[in-house]
This record gives sequence, structure tokens and C-alpha cells, in this order.
Amino acid sequence: MFNLEKIVRENILKLTPYSSARDEFKKDSSGDYIFLDANENDSCPLSGKKLNRYPDPKQAQLRQAVAKIKNLKEEEVFLGNGSDEIVDLLIRIFCEPGKDKILITPPTYGMYKVSADINDVDILKVPFLKDDKGFTLDNASLINLVKQNKSNLKIIFLCSPNNPTGECLERAEVKNILNEFDGIVVVDEAYIDFSKDKSMLELIKEFPNLVVCNTFSKAWGLAGARLGAAFSSNKVVELLDKIKPPYNINSLTAETCLKVINASDFLEISVDKIANEKKRLTKELGQIPIIKKIYPSDANFLLAEFTESSKVFNFLIENKIVVRDRSKEILCENCLRITVGSKSENDKLLEVLKAYK
Ligand SMILES: *Cc1c(COP(=O)(O)O)cnc(C)c1O
Repeated sequence: MFNLEKIVRENILKLTPYSSARDEFKKDSSGDYIFLDANENDSCPLSGKKLNRYPDPKQAQLRQAVAKIKNLKEEEVFLGNGSDEIVDLLIRIFCEPGKDKILITPPTYGMYKVSADINDVDILKVPFLKDDKGFTLDNASLINLVKQNKSNLKIIFLCSPNNPTGECLERAEVKNILNEFDGIVVVDEAYIDFSKDKSMLELIKEFPNLVVCNTFSKAWGLAGARLGAAFSSNKVVELLDKIKPPYNINSLTAETCLKVINASDFLEISVDKIANEKKRLTKELGQIPIIKKIYPSDANFLLAEFTESSKVFNFLIENKIVVRDRSKEILCENCLRITVGSKSENDKLLEVLKAYK
């Protein structure tokens, strides 16, 4: 049985969080207050901005807006300085350094391992199974490892669609893992807006051990703003709030992201455009002889296997095109990960690859 208190580190359970000036004083709607509580400067060097004031530590407005587009309650939403911050915070809440473990399914997103390494947390690996069609989760081995590590495995990081392999995980498999594991299961859905598969978000109502991560860096086109989100039961959200840096989302990011969320049909239009380009790119790359295979993708990138990837990688660089070399990753020999760019960028990529000898 999943019991949240039982898997949280004791020092985190006991922690008295930092209480900021703006936590301790909640203004009501009446009257103008004089704020002499946070040692701020009363004037801002940029006229018309309020950057001289600390941001809202709870990010109430932005949380409301994110909750609304995801059809959740505010209490089920946590915001991070990119989803990378959320990965680190989760490891620090649940994993005792030098003792506890996380589980990952390589090849996958690199930050789970880096965050675990920084926190001196061991990593169990269950590589994907690979066949002609693509990559699938090795469910049997994963469940086996879960059973063998009952006492110190705390978090399983799943990524769907997975980076760099590109495809979504099966919902039934994820549900099975959620049922079999008494720790936290993170499903990183950084690329879900590009996918035809449905998000696993609604499963947070059924599974208190599920954390779904999302980011504004990909489909929303705001990688520079640094905004990530975690969706989970209120208890997990409260723990994240308890240990986060007080002002982890800055005013500029909050304002910008709120504007984009409220203003536009940018997401749909941009996702549509990328889907069309991905289809075209898949077809045309498929006709280039140096490309042996293009894996199916639910994301905004393609994983392509080349006859000799490192030479092609260097040739692309010589031609001022940068792709991601994944050839050193397990099961990704000779593979490059190619982001679906704009039409003109993709045209140039195709032209250069066709010219490769
Ligand atoms: C790009 C990416 C992210 C994004 O992280 P941010 O810190 O929000 O920019 C998260 N997870 C995966 C799998 C990614 O590929």
C-alpha cells in the first residue's frame, strides 16, 4: 500500500520551511499598504515595471491559469524553474543520499541521472527492449527490480513520449507500474502536446503516487522563460512547495507565461505546423540512402539511424546545422536526434544530407 509519509525523508517531514515576508503578510483588497517588510527598493530602474518587488512565492495567478488549461485544481499544480528543478526537488524530498535509489529506463532524458548523481542517489536501470518496430518498456524486468528493491527504491522516472526514442508509453503498462510500486512514479510528459496519445494526467485522481511533469519549453515555445509544472495529489504538491526556493518563478517569467497562456491559440497552431513538417521530414529523410531507419515519433523530433552517424554529424556541423548526437547512448548506436525545425530549416537539412557523400 502506498503511504506518502512513509517514503518522505525524515528531515523533510520535520522541516520548518523558510517563511518569506510575502508569506507572512497576506494583503486584503482594501487599502494601499506601505511595504517596509522585505528590504526592497521603493523604486524600479525600469519605469512601468514592478521588478523592485519580490514575486508572489505561491505564483497564485499563474498556478490558476495552468490549473485551468489542464482542468485541475490549483492544489494539484506545482510550478518549477523548468521541469529540471522539479526532478531535483522530487529526488531531494524522497531519496536519502547514499542510501535510496531511483529507477530509469535508458535510453532516456539525461537529467534524471544527473540529478540523482548530484544528490548521491543510486540509479537502477531497466533498458528499453528494441526490435524492428522500435522501443518498448521491459515491464517484466522493471517489476522484478521493483520487488527486489522494496526498501530503498523511491522514485521511478518514466518519460512519455520518451526522449530520445520518441514514442509514448502504453497507458496500461504505466498503470501496472503504479499499482505494483509503493513509491513515486514520475511520468515526464515534456512532449505530450505533440502526441496523438492522451496525457496520463487524469490518472493523478486515481493514483496518489503519480507525478506528471510538463514543461513550457517545447510545444509552448518558451524554453528561455524556464517554466515547468508538476501535477499530482495535493500532498505531493505541498511537499514540493515546502522545499522549493521561495521565489523560484521570477516576475518576468510569470508575467510572460501568463500572457501566452491567456492570449493565444499559439499552442495549437504551432503543434499543427510541426506535425506537418514532421510528416514531410519523415518521408523525405526516408528516401536518403545514408539513413537506415527513422523511428516512429510522438514528439517534435526524429531519432534516425545512419550508416555512419559521427561523420554525418560532423558534416552537418561543417554546414552549420547542429543535431543531437545520441550514438553513445545505449541502443542508439549510429543515431542522431533531429528536432523538427521550420520549413526553411528542414529544407536546408534535407539539402545538406542529400549532398553528403
Ligand atoms: C526538454 C525536456 C524537458 C524540459 O525541461 P525544462 O527544464 O522544463 O526545460 C524535460 N523533460 C524532457 C524529457 C525533455 O526532453
